[in-house]
Parts: sequence; C-alpha cells; structure tokens
Amino acid sequence: MVVVDQFGADLFEHYADAFPGGLGRLLAGGRRFSDATHDHGITETSPGHATVSTGTAPAEHGMVSNLWFTRDERGAWSRAENVIDPTLRMTGAETLAGSSPAMLMASGLGDWLVARDPESRVVSISGKDRAAILLAGQGAHTVYWFEPQLGRFATSTFYRESDADWVVEFNEGLGERLEGDRNWNLEVPDRLASRARADSAAFEGDGIHTTFPHQFPAEGDTAAGAFAAWWSATPYLDRETTSLAIVALSEMNLGRGSSVDLLSVSLSATDRVGHAYGPDSLEQLDNLLRLDAQVGRLLEALDREVGGRYTLVLTSDHGVSRAPEALQAEGAAARRLTQEDGSRFNERAGEDLRAYGSDPERLAQALAESARAEAWIASAWPESELAGVAPGDSLAALMLESLYPGRAVGLLGRYGVQVALTPHTLLWAWPRGTDHGSPYLYDRRVPLVFYGAGVAPAVVAGRASTRSIAPTLAGLVGLATPPGASAPPFVLR
Ligand SMILES: [Zn+2]
Repeated sequence: MVVVDQFGADLFEHYADAFPGGLGRLLAGGRRFSDATHDHGITETSPGHATVSTGTAPAEHGMVSNLWFTRDERGAWSRAENVIDPTLRMTGAETLAGSSPAMLMASGLGDWLVARDPESRVVSISGKDRAAILLAGQGAHTVYWFEPQLGRFATSTFYRESDADWVVEFNEGLGERLEGDRNWNLEVPDRLASRARADSAAFEGDGIHTTFPHQFPAEGDTAAGAFAAWWSATPYLDRETTSLAIVALSEMNLGRGSSVDLLSVSLSATDRVGHAYGPDSLEQLDNLLRLDAQVGRLLEALDREVGGRYTLVLTSDHGVSRAPEALQAEGAAARRLTQEDGSRFNERAGEDLRAYGSDPERLAQALAESARAEAWIASAWPESELAGVAPGDSLAALMLESLYPGRAVGLLGRYGVQVALTPHTLLWAWPRGTDHGSPYLYDRRVPLVFYGAGVAPAVVAGRASTRSIAPTLAGLVGLATPPGASAPPFVLR
C-alpha cells in the first residue's frame, strides 16, 4: 500500500502526462478508479490512513480527525491527538513521548493477515508517525517513521524496546546524507514550469522565502533540531522514506516466503509542500516529479526482490484546497479567515454559552443557529439531529461518518454541534499556505490505482470508495471479507 499524503485527484490528473517514473508506470499499466473518494466529512491525515487500512469509516475506526477532545467523569475536557501516547517513549530517547494505535478502534489488513498466518510480515514506513501507525493497524508490527526531534527514523516502545539492526545501520548513514540536503533547487524542466503558478506568492511559506532555491539555514533557525524540521518539509524526506522501505523489503525478505506479507509506505513530503506553497505551486510540481522518481525506485525494488508476485495500490489520505488568494485571482469564491473573525466567532459562542449553558440541548440549538448566521459557514447541525437530516443532506451524511462516541471534534464539537465551512474557506490558524479537512470533493477525491499481480489494466469510471481498498486486497489473497467492512471489494480484472 502506497499512500501519498495530500495527493488530491485533481493534482494527479493535472500532471498525469508529466510523470516518466513510477507514477507514469502505474498510470500506463494499472487499473485506475477515476472517481475514488474518501466518504467522510473531516478529511484529515489520521482518518484517511485509518480508512485505507481498515476499510471502515471514522465512525467505526474512531480516528475522527488528527485532534479531538475527550471528557473525564468530572466533566473536564482534554486533548487527544490521534496516535500520541504519553504512556510510551520513542526508541533510543529517554524523554520523548511515543505513539501507538491505542485509539484505533478497528483492525486493519495487516492484522487480518497475521491473524490468519502468524508468519505473515507487516511493515509500515512513513515520514509521519500517524501515517506509519495507522496503515499498519492495531498490532505490534514493524513500524518506523521519521521523527524530526530525533533527526532519524525510529519507532515507539509499543512496537520494540530498540530499533532493528537494519534501521540502526540506515540511521548511521542518514546524518551525512542530510548534510547534502541544505539546498532545495528547482529541477522542473522549462517545458513543464508554465503548468504551475509563478514561483512567488505572498501567501507561500513564511511569506518571505517564497522562491527557489529554498535553503537552510536562511529559512530555518539555529535552534537544535531546526534543520531536521526544515528538511522534513522538503522532497528529500520521501527519498529517505523510500530508501528505508526498500531496505526493509530486502532485510525482512518480504514477499519471498510462502506467507503473504504487507509493506505499507506513506510519503509525507507532498503534504508539507502543499500546506506551505499550495497544490498549484512550482514547489509542488518540483516535489511531484521527485515523488514520481521515488515511486519508480520502489517499483524497481519490488521487481528485483519479489518479481511478478506483488500487487500494489496507490492512493492518498485526502486532497487539499488551492490557496484562497490564488482562487480569488481567478474570480472564484474563497476566504482566508483572520484572527478577528475567530475572536468574533468565539465571542458570539460565549454569549450562547452564558445564556443556555445549563441546558445542553438548547445550547446546541443556539450555537448551531449562531454558526449558520456566519457568512463563512455553509451548514451547522446539533449532532442529535444529524442522523435525521442525513438522508437528504449530503454534507450532513458525510459529517455523520466522522463522528465517534466520546470524541468531540471540530469548532463546536464539545457542545455537540457540527459545522461545515463554505468551500475553500481556511480557518484563522492558517495566515498563509493552505489546508484540507472539508467534506468537499477537492478534499475527498483521491487517486486510486491498483497494479501488478491479479490486476488487469483499465480506467474504471463511477463511484469508488477508499473503504473498498482493504477488502479488495484481502479478497485478492484469499481472506474473507472482514467484519465491519461496509464497502464491497473492487473487481480488479
Ligand atoms: Zn495528510
């Protein structure tokens, strides 16, 4: 399973003829579902990855967003962050909190494989903890991610007490390779550059360093760990993630025994570059051409190590909105909210709280009504009403798929209210750059290509849900459709 973080279908299609490497190979020889979507309203990284691995909605797997709130018996709220697990620590680090799938409430393809055959190996590698962990499922599989605070790949004590030898060895050479990555230069051929926006826009990056070449330390600072943080927002992160996945492939002999193994790779650079510069930026085009080369390297390694006995799926966890200013320049409706918008919204919610705080249902009604009066909110519902309106209201239906009992999510989730912003609206947390997370198609529609053994090349039109990915791969290797899987498997030939 290959997941490219924040790779919307629009972006994939816009540059489809520009990929000479692995993405081009998948387009030419794969089975592409051209209308594939995540079918939940809160299109964040954690829900997307968990849906791909488990075949279920956030309402079932519980990863409603990257961040939610839980309430204790005394009524006090606390933050819960997807995979962050303060009861654990990272390997080789005495104080850094670890991560685990403790809050993932559904099992995934890797878990089903090991339940059938304990010899099956499940390996998951990513630039981000949540991506690596949620693609692997609930079990203590082989899971590594790049940890910027450590400047290397690591795992948590949920999985192992110390890193495997092949990871230690990989990390030993990593420092030197990183030293060569202090410049990110433009490598887009002239004939392609005009298909992206002009290099500089005031909303890009830190608002100052908006053009190539991007360089450290000019764009970072000298604090300890700043270089790894800067580096992990460049395309170089995917090069190392791919390299470690290729090392895992050979070191763990994946695909060579009589058992079915699963290798998951989530490539994070596209998300970091997209947030900073936008999907239509020259930076993103440069990144995607490098991504194409990395996917090519992975395919070549699979050919070499496994031969014709592998099946690969490529998809994404969510898309993204173009930056509001880029849309506005074309006359399209879009909005970047300011701190003042945020203060005004919170003041108004405060008035409702003072007036109706003692009556939760009345309060939810009042807050939903106040929210609907905002020009930048498309819809707002008391959660108690969502199920009733969902059949005729597609936004409500999508939001319902993103609710899990006891996990309060969104602007007003702690008061039992869900809101959907108007399209291409960015919250005040985003003074520059751009974001995702909405129920609209630009955030929900993603690439979906199957490739390799058991797959006949084709372009398949018509609705396809990312919830079908795990059941499809399960069926391909003779596993029964897992309990809880709500979407039917795809036909691959
Ligand atoms: Zn993401």
